[in-house]
Amino acid sequence: MAFAVCARAVEELAVGEQRNGIDDIWGRRTPFCGAGNWSQRVDQNLTAEPDKWVQSCCVLCSNGCGMDIAVKDNKIVGVRGRGDDQISRGRLGPKGLNGWIANNSEDRLTRPLIRKSGKLVPTTWEEAMSTMVAKCIEVRDKSTPFALGIHSTGQLFLEEYHLLAMVGKAGLHTNNMDGNTRLCTATAAQALKETFGSDGQPGTYADIDVTECIFLAGHNPAHTQTVLWSRILDRLAAPNRPRLIVLDCRKTPCAEAADVHLAPKLGTNVAVLNGLLRLIVKNGAVDQSFIAAHTVGFDEMVKTVESYTPDKVEQISGIAASLLIQAGEILSTAPSLVSTALQGLYQSHQATAASCLLNNINLLRGMIGKPGCGILQMNGQPTSQNTRESGCDGEYPGFLNHQNKAHMDHLTRAWNVDKLAIPHGDLPSHAMEIFRHAETGSIKWLWIIGTNPAVSMPELHRIRSILSSHELFVIVQDAFLTETAKLADIVLPTALWGEKTGTFTNTDRTVHISHKAVDPPGEAKSDFEIFLDFAKRMDFRDKDGMPLIKFSDPEGTFNHWREFSKGLVPDYSGITYEKLSKCSGIQWPCNDQRPDGTARLYEDLIFPTAADRCETYGHDLVTGGAISGDEYKLNDPSGRARIRSCDYEPPLESTDDEYPFLLTTGRNAYQFHTRTKTARAPKLEAAAPHVVVEISRGDAERLAIEPGEELVVSSRRGTVKGPAQITDIIPGHIFIPFHYGYWDKPSHKTAANELTITYWDPVSKQPMFKLAAVQVHKASEPSGQKLLEKLAVALDHAKELVDKTMSSMHAHRAHTGDYLFLAKETCSEFEKACDIVSARYLEELDLQSGLRHMKKFANQAANLLQPALDKYGEHAGDEGKRLREALIRPMRTGSTGILHDLHDLYMMTWELHATLMILDKAAKALADQNFVDDCENASSTVKRMQMWFVTQFQHRAAQALIVPS
Ligand code: SF4
Repeated sequence: MAFAVCARAVEELAVGEQRNGIDDIWGRRTPFCGAGNWSQRVDQNLTAEPDKWVQSCCVLCSNGCGMDIAVKDNKIVGVRGRGDDQISRGRLGPKGLNGWIANNSEDRLTRPLIRKSGKLVPTTWEEAMSTMVAKCIEVRDKSTPFALGIHSTGQLFLEEYHLLAMVGKAGLHTNNMDGNTRLCTATAAQALKETFGSDGQPGTYADIDVTECIFLAGHNPAHTQTVLWSRILDRLAAPNRPRLIVLDCRKTPCAEAADVHLAPKLGTNVAVLNGLLRLIVKNGAVDQSFIAAHTVGFDEMVKTVESYTPDKVEQISGIAASLLIQAGEILSTAPSLVSTALQGLYQSHQATAASCLLNNINLLRGMIGKPGCGILQMNGQPTSQNTRESGCDGEYPGFLNHQNKAHMDHLTRAWNVDKLAIPHGDLPSHAMEIFRHAETGSIKWLWIIGTNPAVSMPELHRIRSILSSHELFVIVQDAFLTETAKLADIVLPTALWGEKTGTFTNTDRTVHISHKAVDPPGEAKSDFEIFLDFAKRMDFRDKDGMPLIKFSDPEGTFNHWREFSKGLVPDYSGITYEKLSKCSGIQWPCNDQRPDGTARLYEDLIFPTAADRCETYGHDLVTGGAISGDEYKLNDPSGRARIRSCDYEPPLESTDDEYPFLLTTGRNAYQFHTRTKTARAPKLEAAAPHVVVEISRGDAERLAIEPGEELVVSSRRGTVKGPAQITDIIPGHIFIPFHYGYWDKPSHKTAANELTITYWDPVSKQPMFKLAAVQVHKASEPSGQKLLEKLAVALDHAKELVDKTMSSMHAHRAHTGDYLFLAKETCSEFEKACDIVSARYLEELDLQSGLRHMKKFANQAANLLQPALDKYGEHAGDEGKRLREALIRPMRTGSTGILHDLHDLYMMTWELHATLMILDKAAKALADQNFVDDCENASSTVKRMQMWFVTQFQHRAAQALIVPS
């Protein structure tokens, strides 16, 4: 899918430009040559004349700019952009031009490390892998596969993810598998699923070249995707400049360039977006024929947004009503519209709801699936799209729906495994839950791959304590001794980008290939090789007893993925290594019908929302409650997009006298994530060497804070220190970049996540990094800081003590037997309750007969569970007896007495129903088909009982209640 090229622009600009991008982040403006014709500008940064150039793509943000790697004497000596690349047309930003220098760092890990006598010491691969495997088997055999956890990354290659997904799901059978993509891109995926039925970016970057309006919602590409911002800047500088609306509490470079800058108080995005939707409706700008033919949910949304007048939105968000009206006018009149979102929505309060409301704007205007009209729910990391596609993010490969039996059959057939081999009865654990399970001792073996939770997760003192626990065996796979690796039991040294071959997919579904350019240092291995070695040592088998993993190199793995993805939403079947090596990017779906790839999804306006096709049945956007398949099928959208509605809810944490500021965290243009790579590139590190505390001019003046003055920021969870940077952020707000960990610093007080809260969006489960109440003091003030810090340390110790005491009091054992006993006991107590009730109404023969049946069914249900009781044991309790005694009162008479007694018996059946539902999850996790069948049969029996009770209510309720007696 190469661009048609603007000849004039190429002639003038297609020369290798030596550029480091530090002082001029976005580079000079280049002419815009009309639709689809973004000019070439080939940037390069070379430190020596190379022997060869090797095709690759940048992995330092989700933009995915094609680049070539310059190699001399088996060493990377520079990079240059690829002029034919459809994403960048040769441009590279500061990180792309300089980040590769980290590959050549002196402190790369070159040998595996193992903890002995409390210290990490070098070891052999044999000892590291055999120890890792032995510990894995020991934990699995003693505590089930659910005591194993994998926390991976958004920076591997597609082939590595595909292999890892098979290892984790079909090999280890664990439900505890997620990526750090939960922190950056989970909401993007969820919002796309909730609205369109499936993950998969509807839009394409080419829409930016022709659109007449761009809405950047919580998205600051000037710092997060600098080459994308160059593209937008070129459009803004060209004739037919598009209108630009920016939603951001900071005055970012994007906000400065905007026609309207909406700067809301943190946590209020849903109110603002509801206000904009209301204005579009009021302005009569809704594309009614599109809404009628291609969407569901419009009327409900209109009702929800009705009360969000500009005045009300101003009250909630602080945005002047006049500004909201201006933005509403632009969105109502724009002939075309590209809407984008990133962490300002995803990591904030009501994240999924806000992202769905953004989707609504384009749907209301009928602006999707055609040139200049698209939605880009951006990704955070370079390969996070592949984490989602492969199922390494806790979801399922190929955007399959784990609640849909046919989808799971597709998966188990493709992998040739039994249907219970892949855990899918439960909702997959998300990253925050995985760490919580580790905190409570339920996960005992945790494999951390290419990520650094000791700096990136919220509330870092907790994460440090979890990773340091003697109860948890931690394996870290990384190229550097990160803050997390320092806490590990085993460290496996890995190859970086440029030292291995594979493919990866950017935000707009463009797939690039990155060929191996140089060898990794020392004994470091690619993640692919490590996963393969682990799978062999674990001897994972398919259902025919053959090795589970049937491929042995990246290209073979890619072909396996192509075959699997054929016909699914992310269809890669038409992409090959050969094709990728002859161009610079192909957008999936790519197949026989679309051999050159597909720029826009949904050109036919048919969305994958049909019940048999969708990736999820959706959620209540306020509570996160999952909609069941049966409920969904009742109102099957059958290919129409779902317009979602959600009211604004105030956030959990807000300001008070003690913590009067709101904190948000984010990135700068020079550092990537926790600086593991970028801090090792001297020019990038020098450009942004330390943490800063951004504060508004008004607040700085009020508190007499000078630029650069050292500030102390504290939340209820921790403290950060850094120099003040006085900016146009809205008053009462503080911004701290999250990059600054402590691998090269003596103190923990630089990491923004010391302050953030362990709380997540109820739907996407993405942590809320962009809202925490904090206090700010000058470091020089003899304020209560020292006291507060001491208090925080004391609280940590107290909590640790409580945790240790609790865990020592609690002998570890499986609890399946508790619930089996509860089910058996509830059946038996229900039988007793039936006898009691029956004895009260001897003249009611119909009731007598019915209760006799109920007793029989309860007995049957208990008998069905006997084999499981024999197998897993029972652990006696008295909840069933206590429930019966609490519900069945000593004496009741008459028709209302019968009604109350039936009501109470019915409540007991629900206790049984819930107990069986919980047991069913355990049975599936144990991959015990007989147990699963017994639970299902017992549940059917209970449903039959409940039907009788409902019929009794239908007969008796009205008469008993309304006629005085
Ligand atoms: S915009 Fe992103 S992908 Fe492109 S060069 Fe910069 S960091 Fe790399």
